[in-house]
Amino acid sequence: MLRTHTCGELTLKNAGNSVVLCGWLQRSRDLGGMTFIDLRDRYGITQLVFNMETNASLCEAARKMGREFVIRVHGRVTERSNKNLKMPTGEIEISVDSFEILNEAKTPPFTIEENTDGGEDLRMKYRYLDIRRSPVKEALLLRARVAAETRNYLNKVDFIEVETPVLIKSTPEGARDFVVPSRMNPGEFYALPQSPQTFKQLLMVAGMDKYYQIVKCFRDEDLRADRQPEFTQIDCEMSFVEQEDILNTFEGLVRHLFDAVKNCNIGELPRMTYAEAMQNYGNDKPDIRFEMKLIDFSTLSKGKNFKVFDEAGVVLAICAKGCSEYTRKQLDELTDWVKRPQIGATGLVYARYNTDGSIKSSVDKFYSPEDLKLWMEKCNAAPGDLVLILAGEEHKTRKAMSELRLEMGSRLGLRDKDNYRALWVLDFPLLEWSEETQRWHAMHHPFTSPKPEDVGLLTSDPGKVRANAYDMVINGVEVGGGSIRIFNKELQQKMFGILGFSPEDAQAQFGFLMNAFEFGAPPHGGIAFGFDRLCSLFGGADSIRDYIAFPKNNAGRDVMIDSPAKISAEQLKELQISIHKP
Ligand code: ASP
Repeated sequence: MLRTHTCGELTLKNAGNSVVLCGWLQRSRDLGGMTFIDLRDRYGITQLVFNMETNASLCEAARKMGREFVIRVHGRVTERSNKNLKMPTGEIEISVDSFEILNEAKTPPFTIEENTDGGEDLRMKYRYLDIRRSPVKEALLLRARVAAETRNYLNKVDFIEVETPVLIKSTPEGARDFVVPSRMNPGEFYALPQSPQTFKQLLMVAGMDKYYQIVKCFRDEDLRADRQPEFTQIDCEMSFVEQEDILNTFEGLVRHLFDAVKNCNIGELPRMTYAEAMQNYGNDKPDIRFEMKLIDFSTLSKGKNFKVFDEAGVVLAICAKGCSEYTRKQLDELTDWVKRPQIGATGLVYARYNTDGSIKSSVDKFYSPEDLKLWMEKCNAAPGDLVLILAGEEHKTRKAMSELRLEMGSRLGLRDKDNYRALWVLDFPLLEWSEETQRWHAMHHPFTSPKPEDVGLLTSDPGKVRANAYDMVINGVEVGGGSIRIFNKELQQKMFGILGFSPEDAQAQFGFLMNAFEFGAPPHGGIAFGFDRLCSLFGGADSIRDYIAFPKNNAGRDVMIDSPAKISAEQLKELQISIHKP
């Protein structure tokens, strides 16, 4: 090795030792007779000191080096007079005897320190410099830790890691596929997996029993903030199990991860049905760090000649504790907030429960004090609280109220990042009606099995069929989801029929899976966790981007390598692809 130690390990215990360190020059400070340099590597920062009096030429040479020079120093560990107890190496410094420049560096385009002056685009273009900064580096170390602990847990309970191919055929998970042209089969394309779904099921037919993989998945979706076209899943599947077994196994995984990575016990995960989640939170991934449930005011508020409520599909309220003194301005601002297109409400009705016991609402014209008293009772409001009400078409209003609830939760400081509340959401509907395509879509994916007791409804009332499907939700974020699968050819065929596939199409696209079901498929089920998201949750960050070494930007571009990019005419010709400009 070119070094005896790293920049993160020397302490007072090493005082007097001769050492050799390598690293990057983070910054240097000239203080008259002395020059101090912060030397950085992955493990930490160690202070170097050069003394003008004892070695003027060395000190002068050191002063000539710029930021991010790569150097190797020989010196002695000495106790610092000016200690920095915030750093593990803060009690010592290295009195340098000699150094070599291993490589020079141009002045970096942004400051490579804990805090940087570099904007997002610049940092992405020079991601290799950004990764030298400790917050990004720490995020990647955390990611590696989560991956290692995932493997530890799953290996211990007999899962085996199996790789599945990346060049495959379309898997219908609801998004568009990325496709790759095949040179050897002109006019034909591979698809990149949206997930290894069908392969993991085939591994169950193959008798692998318990499979996992930390695997890249690809979905060509319109990019929303914080979505990456390629992302990583912890993908798992088990045979001879029921839903309960999967919930227990993976609750165990997540508990292990919180324990090992965050030193935090998240306790037993509560369970909630999809129907309850929608009713109480207006959302299938409820943030249960705080209550503020949605209260249905429909019966209570109708029939008093207030047209907005009378004509609404649903009238929903939430009670914001301690907010009765919101000013007119705050309420107007909140009204504007719910009217933004992203939220889509037409207006906001409020009722203040004043601390003197009186109630004042924005619809006093229509509702008597007695009416309003009933409102307060219905949502358990106390003097000092503020009741906020939205009305309109059921689905839209629930969604808007869910957003308002989250917003109020944030404003009231009820969504502490370090308070982790996880739960299972169960019994999702199997199917979802799409107005756009005028047909049923699988809510999870077409391989999900209906609840046996609901199979009869498949033909009579498909929208009512519940699936053996589950999501794990932490702090309002869906971190994982899966299902018990169909493992019988006839039922799978029936399912494709309901989803609008002709028997021929179903056979052409999924014959490989249905045929496999004829050779002794075991009952099986599984789950996949969004690995990037899980890491960002552990790291307490909103964005998954910092947990990915080389992420793409919001336009799906890698601005560092400048991709996607055109390919040469030769490559196109070889692939027999011609580009038609509109
Ligand atoms: N393949 C599914 C997904 O990516 C997960 C599963 O059902 O196991 O969401």
